[in-house]
Amino acid sequence: MMSKKRCSNKFATLCLSLILSACAANEPQRSDSVLQQSGKQAGQSAYLWVSESAEYQWNTQLIYQAAANRVYQYLGGKKEGKWGVFLDLDQTVLDNTAFQQLLLERKTTYDQPLWDEWVKMEQASLVPGALVFIEEVKRLGGLVVFVSNRAHYLQQATENNLHALGVPYDEMFLRSGQRNKAARWHSAMKNIDFTPVLWLGDQVTDFPLFDEDYNGDDCPAFSTAYSYNAPTDSFLSEQLGRCIFVVANPIYGTWKTR
Ligand SMILES: [Mg+2]
Repeated sequence: MMSKKRCSNKFATLCLSLILSACAANEPQRSDSVLQQSGKQAGQSAYLWVSESAEYQWNTQLIYQAAANRVYQYLGGKKEGKWGVFLDLDQTVLDNTAFQQLLLERKTTYDQPLWDEWVKMEQASLVPGALVFIEEVKRLGGLVVFVSNRAHYLQQATENNLHALGVPYDEMFLRSGQRNKAARWHSAMKNIDFTPVLWLGDQVTDFPLFDEDYNGDDCPAFSTAYSYNAPTDSFLSEQLGRCIFVVANPIYGTWKTR
């Protein structure tokens, strides 16, 4: 027969082991919840920075001014209509923070039908600095070509939104097939017959993976777009501030890790 003391010790051990296993079972949930909470706070903070801060405006204006300087340097002797710029649209030219506000208010995350519904409202505003830059390119005789991964069926709503914002442009290529933009860039260069001076976007996939680091004044040749898993020591960093200009977007996207 077990002594009272031994019985009590055994009961305490059992309780402790039950508590420990309960803690272990709960641990991942607690961590997930903490991560979700901090992600939510980070999302709200990013949204506020983009929608409210002067610093965000200064950042995007600075990038667009640097892009304009590249255009001025490139221009000598270039024929009107034979050079141009490739721009992404979302969070590069069009500011969709109102959509992010909607997601935060509804306590939900991105989904395609909700995004489509919002785009069709044609309520996007402009990223600071974008319009001044685009107007300057047009004034100097350059072409403005948008290549975006918005779905092709959003073409009319996108055109209407850009028109209402007074954005002049020459061509717009949305996505009807693959997300990789290289085929659309090549097709635009061939069909419109122009040389791109620079690419401007908010994610690494908005830029070409160049074949070499330097090619005189012109941007180097490329066969594909940059991907998230491309090596970081490739030629993209060589082209920053020359053929590649990146505006900050802390709100969404699959960011390239260092
Ligand atoms: Mg974008």
